[in-house]
Amino acid sequence: MVASADAEQISESAEGKSKLFDVIVVGAGAAGVGVGIALAHAGVGNFIIIERETVGASFSSWTEETRFITPSFPSNSIGMLDLNSIAVGVSPAYNMRVEHPTGREYAEHLKDLVDFFELRVEENSEVKQIVHEEGIFSVETEDWTISSKHIIWAAGEFLYPQLGGFAGSELCRHTASLANYADLEGDDFLIVGGYESGVDAAYHLAKRGKKVTIFDKEDPWGLDSSDPSTSLSTFTYERMRELSFEENVELFPEKPVVSLDLIADTYELKTEDGQLFKSKTQPLLASGFIGSHTLVSHFFEERDDGFPLLNEYDESTKVPGMYLCGPSVRHDNHDFCFIFKFRQRFAVVAQSIASSLDISTDEFVEAYRQWGMYLDDLSCCGQECVSC
Ligand SMILES: Cc1cc2nc3c(=O)[nH]c(=O)nc-3n(C[C@H](O)[C@H](O)[C@H](O)COP(=O)(O)OP(=O)(O)OC[C@H]3O[C@@H](n4cnc5c(N)ncnc54)[C@H](O)[C@@H]3O)c2cc1C
Repeated sequence: MVASADAEQISESAEGKSKLFDVIVVGAGAAGVGVGIALAHAGVGNFIIIERETVGASFSSWTEETRFITPSFPSNSIGMLDLNSIAVGVSPAYNMRVEHPTGREYAEHLKDLVDFFELRVEENSEVKQIVHEEGIFSVETEDWTISSKHIIWAAGEFLYPQLGGFAGSELCRHTASLANYADLEGDDFLIVGGYESGVDAAYHLAKRGKKVTIFDKEDPWGLDSSDPSTSLSTFTYERMRELSFEENVELFPEKPVVSLDLIADTYELKTEDGQLFKSKTQPLLASGFIGSHTLVSHFFEERDDGFPLLNEYDESTKVPGMYLCGPSVRHDNHDFCFIFKFRQRFAVVAQSIASSLDISTDEFVEAYRQWGMYLDDLSCCGQECVSC
């Protein structure tokens, strides 16, 4: 973590001595730490990662029971990077001896990487505003301002949940705000949203003998796609076949929820076809995340789907020097929402910045490419598996 001398240096800028970095990374999650390691490998030294809470904060705030759906395996010895790794040569499976880590375990792993690679991270510092003038970005927190020609926005999605969607949705509890499932009171749960988070909640509640009804406006349980960005993971399908799930969970595909009311002490949930479902337990909302890119949308042109438009280096097409890393990266119809997807763009960003600082990157790019960590040809993506 950042040494106290650095902290002093930063706070001096509040008195007008604005410190200038080559790169400022916002967010110390999987993307911020991963791109930080890539920057260091590319030879960029003068950078800092600013983190609103602590390293891996999103992962530490997952419900206690929630585990990674993507498996970790120490496959690095034959040049296949562990699916949950964010750095060349690193394997969370090897480090932790766990196949499906919990969020807390993964946050510890990220902290270990920060220490191992000696990354400069300023924790407990929320970026409140970024101002762009004459090619320089000023990054402001409550206490100080620092500057750079390059910003990498890696502030993630988890802390920015999707809360609306239907009348009365504010009566629900978003799954991102739960500490665990063990302490949830009630026996009869209504869950709106049936993708990974909704099914995860249903699985843990059903294991405790609770009855669960899940609604989704689409049919995430019947989708036939080999892309885990659209289809459920194998881990989830396996858990759905467990007896407690089959006995306790009822799935309602293609059943949009239109309203929720609290009448006396009963929640009344109405679906588009006019059906009414009642429960005395506060319903759960598993409707996903709007993402933090919405906070910096003024620095980007917008795609038709609302995500930022990026050039081939994941840099804004509107404001040069502003980069995006993490699950909100989109190119054409390619969606980089998992770690094993978005990590392949860290080196593309790091190379672009290193080149602008006149640092030679040929060896760096070659090493990352060999590990499958430098994806510049997107024609390979989006292929479906053959099913037999
Ligand atoms: C329940 C759940 C299960 C998941 N399972 C998997 C899985 O199995 N495999 C997988 O690949 N992905 C999984 N994901 C997705 C994965 O967690 C995200 O893709 C990943 O966290 C994104 O990394 P990130 O660094 O972009 O964001 P985050 O990990 O959210 O990190 C962003 C960081 O930015 C900080 N921050 C935010 N705003 C500011 C600000 N203004 N100033 C300073 N710092 C700020 C936050 O505190 C946070 O630490 C899962 C997600 C959820 C919610």
